[in-house]
Amino acid sequence: MTPFRYTCTLCGRSYARDEVRYLCPECGTSYRPGMPLHGVLEATFDAEALRRSFDPSQPSWEVFSAVEPEYYPAYPVGGTPLSPAALLGQAIGLDRLFLKNDGANPSGSLKDRASFLMVAEANRLGESTIVTASTGNAASALAAVCAAAGKKAVIFVPSTAPRAKLAQILLYGATLVPVAGTYDDAFALSLAYTTHEGGLNRNTAYHPLTIEGKKTVGLEIFAQSGMKVPDVIAVSAGDGVILHGVHKAFTDLRAAGSIHSLPRLLCVQAATSDAIHRYVTTGVYADAANPVTAADSISVRTPSNAHMARRAVVESKGMSVTVTDDEIRSAQALLARTTGIFAEPAAATAVAGLIRAQSTGWLGRGDHVVALLTGHGLKDVDFALKGAHVPEPVAPDLDAVRAFLAGKRA
Ligand SMILES: *Cc1c(COP(=O)(O)O)cnc(C)c1O
Ligand SMILES: [Zn+2]
Repeated sequence: MTPFRYTCTLCGRSYARDEVRYLCPECGTSYRPGMPLHGVLEATFDAEALRRSFDPSQPSWEVFSAVEPEYYPAYPVGGTPLSPAALLGQAIGLDRLFLKNDGANPSGSLKDRASFLMVAEANRLGESTIVTASTGNAASALAAVCAAAGKKAVIFVPSTAPRAKLAQILLYGATLVPVAGTYDDAFALSLAYTTHEGGLNRNTAYHPLTIEGKKTVGLEIFAQSGMKVPDVIAVSAGDGVILHGVHKAFTDLRAAGSIHSLPRLLCVQAATSDAIHRYVTTGVYADAANPVTAADSISVRTPSNAHMARRAVVESKGMSVTVTDDEIRSAQALLARTTGIFAEPAAATAVAGLIRAQSTGWLGRGDHVVALLTGHGLKDVDFALKGAHVPEPVAPDLDAVRAFLAGKRA
């Protein structure tokens, strides 16, 4: 661990590590539920210390951690595969396409990374209860890590979350509060809960270490790319914390003196849940009026980290696109058929975004591109089955099978 201070991303004030916990004490007072968070804090590491302690030829990744490893829970997260995807690349028109498969995390999504670091922080602070609002994955991740660490998780999710995610939360033994409302309602409710009932709040971007936790995927992409900076990383965005976290990985590496350029971020949102997209393209923030999409993990009316997500895209000279649910569905199928990776809708969104971006000419055929796959397809089987046709059963005899297959060919 390298010494760090928290810096307010809005006013620039800096605070000692234990002087603050959530938002900037100055800017956060103007935050009200229903608007993007004001005064999100960012861990700013001592650059000199980073340069001294990080040696890319013998990398020790712990120097980029904002919690001492002695507090880490015994729950293995990250270290997910980065693999070339030649057939998918051929189909899309990209010669150097790679997939970072974070669906391979133990609870099936990238959210394990943020929950892991939050539980480490709870260990450091001696907190026994962690609270979160979630569309489903952050909740199942928190429930999983808390189970392994012997902590209590209190979880607010929209009651419409996919059943697999609800099953995970319950089986991991968390206290589940299904909310008859949206994710945004659950977010506001969980803040009210921790304010009045206590516990450590893990809401995305509200606690700065969620960004630091998600950052680790960017560090891994760099390491697994042979210590090279990809040209483009495609990231699906809901609250915009993964986007910010990936960017932070590379700005930290730059602060450590290890790299000079940043990957261009391709921000991908669902066409109906597009508040960050419109903020990036117009410079003006407005909520997504009706963020209904089958990609439940990125269905957000008011992205909590809208300001920093926009900044990450702009600073990286990135771009933003939206995709329809139909495009997500066909990207999910194409991905599965050409790579053997079954990704949940919000993860296939990144691939759908690459197809879009390719058609605009923004992507070069030879660009070194990484698509970040954020969650496993088994998280939402119902979505996949809606687009697939399960055949009628066949009698258990070979002639029936022949007739069946002939029928399929006809
Ligand atoms: C949470 C999540 C996202 C979006 O992450 P944000 O930080 O909210 O932008 C994308 N895909 C999956 C599978 C997720 O669970
Ligand atoms: Zn501030």
